[in-house]
Amino acid sequence: MTTIQMVDLRTQYERIKIDIDQAIQQVLDNTAFINGPDVKAFAQELSQYTGAAYVIPCGNGTDALQIAMMALDFQPGDEVIVPAFTYVATVEVIALLGLRPKFVDVLPDTYELDPAGLEKALGPKVVGIVPVHLYGQCSNMEFLVDFAQKHNLKIIEDTAQAIGAVYTFSDGRKAQAGTIGDVGTTSFFPSKNLGCYGDGGAMFTNDSELAEKLRMIANHGQKKKYYHDSIGVNSRLDTLQAAILRVKLKHLDRYSSSRNEVAARYDQAFLNHQNIKTPKRAANSTHVFHQYTIQVEGASREDLKNFLQEKGVPTMVYYPVPLHLQQAYLQYGYQQGEFPVAENLCKKVLSLPIHTEMEPEQQEFIIEAIKSFFNK
Ligand SMILES: *Cc1c(COP(=O)(O)O)cnc(C)c1O
Repeated sequence: MTTIQMVDLRTQYERIKIDIDQAIQQVLDNTAFINGPDVKAFAQELSQYTGAAYVIPCGNGTDALQIAMMALDFQPGDEVIVPAFTYVATVEVIALLGLRPKFVDVLPDTYELDPAGLEKALGPKVVGIVPVHLYGQCSNMEFLVDFAQKHNLKIIEDTAQAIGAVYTFSDGRKAQAGTIGDVGTTSFFPSKNLGCYGDGGAMFTNDSELAEKLRMIANHGQKKKYYHDSIGVNSRLDTLQAAILRVKLKHLDRYSSSRNEVAARYDQAFLNHQNIKTPKRAANSTHVFHQYTIQVEGASREDLKNFLQEKGVPTMVYYPVPLHLQQAYLQYGYQQGEFPVAENLCKKVLSLPIHTEMEPEQQEFIIEAIKSFFNK
């Protein structure tokens, strides 16, 4: 059995090596390293895949969030609603732009923004909401779209962990994660479900004017070279990365199915286990299982983690500290106890290895190791 990893990028590469190597070689031969033809082609292919009318590639998922907020004209002092339980990127760009994060607690089973908390977070300065489709399934977009319309808020969907997840509205209409709000943002960080071999990101929108603005801001605020209409940033997807992503996009559905198979085996193995809460599926979304995250009940998560580590089973805690209690964001004045669900999740969650090339033998080993911890 090969060494178990959280994500096995090497095996994944080896299985598509011929196509990847050829794609890379082609970029080298053409030496169009910036804005080469693969960038445009990839954007078109991703637009076709996701159903987003416009896909604007950029440097990474964090930039995508920042550019989205700039394009939506959020002004210093404006407030943006974000979950207290997520990756730091969202709150970081809010702070950098002089906006204020309005943290909201999450639901204890699907980890999406808690509707009750949203009502409480409203105020005259709130201009937007950033739902995060955490671990790979969509937040309750129907509710969020209604809520945003009612209160005149913009929605930026953080889709870094959920590319390809499909949301179904009550009227039967389906849409992919990231294509429902005003802007969707995603990341192609290597370990993401659609990962490149370095940094990369993209923004999705169905609004042509907004698309043009996003594109312009990502490119120094210029439409025409050396004429700058707005303050921008420099955020580009490398041609090399785009060429790699074009190859990998063809495998994304298969990758999502493999992840779901791994998830189903974990579900089955821990069904009714008294110490393990398996991930709940959101009502109206498919799951692409960026992470398979359990909650450890009635036992020490740290002891389990260490025990597994000794057996050669890596696990990760996404995330150990809620955003409102992170040192850097204490300045916003939130207190311990304000978001009890997020705080509690940070003590209980544990993400197990899940990837597209997991061997059944490896997974059996992981499952047996976890069970043996509780049977000691
Ligand atoms: C990975 C991630 C990001 C940031 O993406 P980068 O490409 O690393 O900048 C943002 N939000 C979430 C939820 C993520 O998981």
